[in-house]
Amino acid sequence: MESNGSVTNLRSTSCRRIILFPLPFQGHINPMLQLANILHTRGFKITVIHAQYNSSNPSNYPHFTFKPIKDGFSEIADQLSDNPDASYFLNYLNKSCVDPFRDCLAGLLAEETVACVITDAGFYFAQAVADDLKLPRIVLRTSSVGCVLAYDVLPFNSKKGCFNVTKQDSDYEASVTEYPILKFKDIVKITTNPHGMGDFVTNMLNQMKASSGIIWNTFKELEESALETISQDFQVPSFTLGPFNKYFPASSSSLIEQDRTILKWLDKQPPKSVVYVSFGSGAYITESEFQEVAHGLANIELPFLWVVRPGMVAGSERLEALPEKFQERMGDRGRIVKWSPQQEVLAHPATGCFWTHNGWNSTLESICEGVPMICSPCFVDQTQDM
Ligand code: UDP
Repeated sequence: MESNGSVTNLRSTSCRRIILFPLPFQGHINPMLQLANILHTRGFKITVIHAQYNSSNPSNYPHFTFKPIKDGFSEIADQLSDNPDASYFLNYLNKSCVDPFRDCLAGLLAEETVACVITDAGFYFAQAVADDLKLPRIVLRTSSVGCVLAYDVLPFNSKKGCFNVTKQDSDYEASVTEYPILKFKDIVKITTNPHGMGDFVTNMLNQMKASSGIIWNTFKELEESALETISQDFQVPSFTLGPFNKYFPASSSSLIEQDRTILKWLDKQPPKSVVYVSFGSGAYITESEFQEVAHGLANIELPFLWVVRPGMVAGSERLEALPEKFQERMGDRGRIVKWSPQQEVLAHPATGCFWTHNGWNSTLESICEGVPMICSPCFVDQTQDM
């Protein structure tokens, strides 16, 4: 573990249990459980407190203890595809989980000594709970460091409406003064509710700064200057432990069953020929964007593997918006699956490029396998500088 600050070495503490608390979304669960595995191999006992929504399968982790808590998320989960703004769900969880998390954590502390709790940075409420219970809280931030630097300065609460700039506005191609590497056309993709997002970001950053330390899923060679800046701006120890996917694959924490039959199909394709397309677990695209992707794949005349998860296309169950007879016309040249074993696909010699929404896990996985990316960022942290 590389640290930019002076910290207590967790290995030297006498209490060996660590409690982890991931945000209940695939791109957050994967790195948290990868981190849990890393800590377990270093001798720690692991308890995972988790929301009922999107809970992982404990039988894939017989070496961990899982403690579910009520999250109240089912009351709003059906709004996920209608309300694309992540801050609404994140701010909701930061209220609905307070009492269940506090009760669960207090119960665990009554049973045995615990070294610390590691929560997703997005669970900002957890700092006050940990402080009350006199337990150190370490934060896992699952995005890039560059994203947090941008969040720290972007004008979410500006009266000028910087996040609502459209193609018709003269500013659309201009750089954002506070973070010039990003243009207005980039930041509009972050949120449809700048004030809600601004509240979330402010709370998250304040509570990261109040924590006992931050773990980043990144590595020095990729984000050296961002890491230097963050260690000046955030006066808490920073640990760069990533990329986690090099230690453990994310497959055991998949919430959708991975279609492994496509690995045999990949075996039959020429080296570096396949275009792999996936927009991750949370992004939604419109029917017309979906059709554009389909036409693009039809026109390039290369084999392709396309992940279309149920509900990914706004207003469709799954494949209804495909151009007529698309699958028949593509034949064995193209495969469409609900969910793939992504890391294995990226590591496969037949994979030639990755058309991605640039979720941070996907970005790291692609970099680690040396697969070139075609980037179509969709929302939140995906318009970051690197
Ligand atoms: N993933 C997968 N199969 C798929 C698509 C994605 O296993 O068909 C995994 C991928 O390997 C990554 C995670 O889901 O670990 C997606 O996280 P990311 O940060 O890339 O995007 P998010 O889903 O958070 O938008």
